[in-house]
Amino acid sequence: MAIYKDDKSKLDTASIKTTTLFSFVVFALFLLAVLWGLVQFFIDTYYERARTQEVIRTANVLETEFRQNPEGFSKFAIQTAGTSGIYIRLDTPSDSLVYDGTSSVEETATLSEDIESISKKLRAAGPGSVTEVRPGTGQSDSRLLYASHLSRNGEKNLLYIIAPLYPDPTTFRILRNMLFYISFIFLIVSTILAYMLSRRITLPIENLTKAATELSQGNYNVNFDGSAFTETKELAKALNKASYEMEKTDFYQREIIANVSHDLKTPLTMIRSYAEKILDISGDNPEKRNADLHVIISETERLNKLVGDILSVSNLQSNNIELHMETFDIVEAARDVYESFNVLSSSRGFEVEFHPCRSCYVHGDRTRIMQVMTNFADNAVKYSGDDKYIDIKLSRSGKKVSFHCIDHGIGIPSDEIGHVWDKYYRTSANHERAIEGTGLGLAIVKGILNLHNAKFGVDSSEGKGSDFWFELDTVRKPSEKKDKKDKSE
Ligand code: ADP
Repeated sequence: MAIYKDDKSKLDTASIKTTTLFSFVVFALFLLAVLWGLVQFFIDTYYERARTQEVIRTANVLETEFRQNPEGFSKFAIQTAGTSGIYIRLDTPSDSLVYDGTSSVEETATLSEDIESISKKLRAAGPGSVTEVRPGTGQSDSRLLYASHLSRNGEKNLLYIIAPLYPDPTTFRILRNMLFYISFIFLIVSTILAYMLSRRITLPIENLTKAATELSQGNYNVNFDGSAFTETKELAKALNKASYEMEKTDFYQREIIANVSHDLKTPLTMIRSYAEKILDISGDNPEKRNADLHVIISETERLNKLVGDILSVSNLQSNNIELHMETFDIVEAARDVYESFNVLSSSRGFEVEFHPCRSCYVHGDRTRIMQVMTNFADNAVKYSGDDKYIDIKLSRSGKKVSFHCIDHGIGIPSDEIGHVWDKYYRTSANHERAIEGTGLGLAIVKGILNLHNAKFGVDSSEGKGSDFWFELDTVRKPSEKKDKKDKSE
């Protein structure tokens, strides 16, 4: 005997838990790589652009202030230079005013070089403003130079701004360190989250698997719990339903084996005892012999029907049934069923009434559809009780025709009505009244009607009777179709 052991120590790379955890960690690492890549390769460009825009914005504000509020300009420029950490110089025809808010652009020699360079560029460019990036010896002393013409009341002035491009290295280092800690925390948090999420996802699946294993061992009382997720809840609901159906089928199957063996045993015993009777007693008396032979024949027919039903259900279940589709008059088919029934049932005191509609055609397997009608009528006779009055009705509505078999018998309890189409199902009333049957007839009917894509159902109330019906699409009379085709040709 082979013994299979779960190797728990080995990592199952195909499990949802590992896959979720792995995907999350990879995703977190990817995000971090992107973040660090951006910081490493693009932060300088981004910072430079942002700083340039900021300086231009500040210059615009200064220019507006200079034109609109000449008295307050100096105070405003000092404030701006201080808060933005920039060097501002305003050259008027009479004076040169400096507002210095920067500590890193300190050296006068560098400043005058910068001013010279940018004013040369401004002269060459004409009216408007110019900017220039001046690289320093290190990254932290790179500067952004700005110059513009600033006229007021016909007076020509020049505005210069010098702004350090980058924060000093300490700030950069602090930022990088911060980013490192953030990345570390991000990685830890995302791993924990991934672990928790993967556990949350797999827990209901593990529970469902455990329950399914129990079910496979024949424990139908097991409850499938889908926990918090809609999908697993749906799965649990479906599995609970499946387990209920399995239990039901198992129960009916066991019951039918008992019933079928009983049903098979009775005619077999009858056949055997009547055959023995012919052999021993009535063989020489033609009259008695014929009567005994009739019993044998009818018991054989009963056997035949039972075996036929079991075969039909099994064929329908395995889709092993071939339909012989044709276009036929359903009213005529129903009349045939009615007539063969009327003869049989009137001898047993039944009154069967036929209410046809005007003749109409359907596309289907005539023999199978008649089998459905016969089954409905058979059941109507079987379950009619003392009220032996049955209606067979056909009605048309639009492009549909429906067949109804209405009895006024025992009816079906409302909580059992949904199950009558299940194979081997027999309502509780049968057990009380010991009505013979296999519970296969309506399962066969359902199979046949499903193959025809027909709508079907039963309306019933307990003690009052039942109306078993199905509905098919009508089609044109075959000759009409042919005539039309001929004309078009
Ligand atoms: P059975 O061989 O038991 O008649 P069916 O599949 O034809 O099997 O019917 C299934 C069950 O549905 C029956 O056992 C019966 O309980 C119920 N049933 C079917 N037709 C009728 C009816 N006309 N009136 C009341 N109950 C019916």
